[in-house]
Order: sequence, then C-alpha cells, then structure tokens
Amino acid sequence: MAKSTSEALEGTLPGEGMLFMVPTPIGNLEDITLRALNTLKTCDLILAEDTRHSGILLKHYGIQKPLLSYHKFNESARQEQILGRLAEGQQLALISDAGTPGISDPGERIVREVIHHGYTVQALPGASAGISALCASGLPTSEFHFLGFLDRKSARRRRKLEACLELPGTLVLYESPHRMEKLLEELHDLMPKRVVVIARELTKKFEQWTRGRAEDLFARRESIRIKGEFVVLIGPDGFDPFSDMPTQ
Ligand code: SAM
Repeated sequence: MAKSTSEALEGTLPGEGMLFMVPTPIGNLEDITLRALNTLKTCDLILAEDTRHSGILLKHYGIQKPLLSYHKFNESARQEQILGRLAEGQQLALISDAGTPGISDPGERIVREVIHHGYTVQALPGASAGISALCASGLPTSEFHFLGFLDRKSARRRRKLEACLELPGTLVLYESPHRMEKLLEELHDLMPKRVVVIARELTKKFEQWTRGRAEDLFARRESIRIKGEFVVLIGPDGFDPFSDMPTQ
C-alpha cells in the first residue's frame, strides 16, 4: 500500500544523513512527482549536474535551496564535501539535467561512496528516457538490455553491437544527433532485418516515433529528422510485428 513521504521515512533517524536520487523531467516540466518536489523543497542542499540549468526547473516550482554543482568533472573532488555534510546529518538531493540521476548521468560513483560510508540512499521513481521509450515502443518489454551511450570510436561501437547480437530481448540505447546517421549505418550492416524504433524528443512539442527495419531506416535516412534527443530501440532477432504495417 502506498505511503506518504513522512510515513515512508518512518524508521530513519531524525538528523540522519541521507542522499535522495531525484528524477527530473526529460522535456515536459510537469513530469515530476509530488514527492520529488517535496524532497527538493525540504532537503538541506541540492546537488545539481548544472546549477544554471536546474535553476529553471526550481524557479518554475518556486523552490529556493542552496545548490552545489556535481558533474563528471568534479565527482571525486566533491566526495569529501558530500560525506562531510552527511556526517552532519544533512539530507541531500541529487539531480541531473534531465531524467534519473546515475543513468547515463553523474551519480553512480557517489551512491557507492555513500553506501560504503553507511548512509542511506533513497531512489525516488520518476522520468527516464529509456524506460519511457521502451514502454511505448511496441517492442518486447519483458527482457531488455540498456546499453546507455555507445563509445564514440567506430571499432568499439561495432564490437559492442556485435556482442549484443545474441542477446534476447530489446536493446535500448541513447544516441547523440551527431552520430545517428552512423548508428543507422552500423545497424544496417550488422542487423539489417531487426526492427528499430527511434523515439525522438519524448514529452516535448516535436515528439516523434520512427519504426522500421534497420535496412529500411538506413535507406530513408535522409528523410529522418536527426535534430534533438533520441532513444534508439532494437527488437530481438526474428521479432517483426510491424511487417504488415506501412513503415512509420
Ligand atoms: N538520466 C537521463 C535518463 O534517465 O533518461 C539520461 C541522460 S543522458 C545524458 C541524455 C540522453 O538521454 C540523450 O542524449 C538522449 O539519448 C536521451 N534523452 C533524454 N531526454 C530525451 C527525450 N526527451 N527524448 C528522447 N531521448 C532523450
């Protein structure tokens, strides 16, 4: 049975240092939970990947809290400061620019350190681009493999994709617009018959879904808009529910 924030926190000692992983919207400012907003309002400090970027969200919800930057370039430098605050019994909230912190975003390292030092980490459920894309993709959801971003180097990207060829279930990956065309070419070369779904600009004004076999998408790559943010999903070998549907 669902509980309110105060009930859910019963059992944690007052003044006990805690780290909250707080998901933020991936495009639509309304995609944030009441609990996330309450946590951001009541914590002692917000650790933000980009304090200026997060300032827009916080201002929108009238949240005024001290912010401290926490990003991939200062992760280790911040560690002592964060542990020091937890030792004082502070409650800290970690947010990234969009979606769930720690998922292709800073967070993984500090979570490990905080656990290692005996403090509690609480994960608030919320937006994550890969999960949103998967659940509306039409591809199998019972087993999926999240690859995050592929390497920038061609040989490593190919090796990774080759290593995934035998995996059952759907592959979910993030890709930057600069490498989308390259990715379509790689998928065409390595798995031409697989069904690929491209989820672009989820939750935003120009949200767009493109579905088709890898070879078809590669053939019409020039007509596919490659501006914005993308999740790319690849169906398992032999799965083609759209074979009798016109390509979208
Ligand atoms: N932590 C985030 C999450 O939980 O989804 C992911 C952060 S990662 C740095 C950013 C990547 O996520 C983008 O390059 C894109 O691949 C994907 N992404 C984020 N927002 C998106 C959106 N609105 N639509 C499609 N993909 C998105």
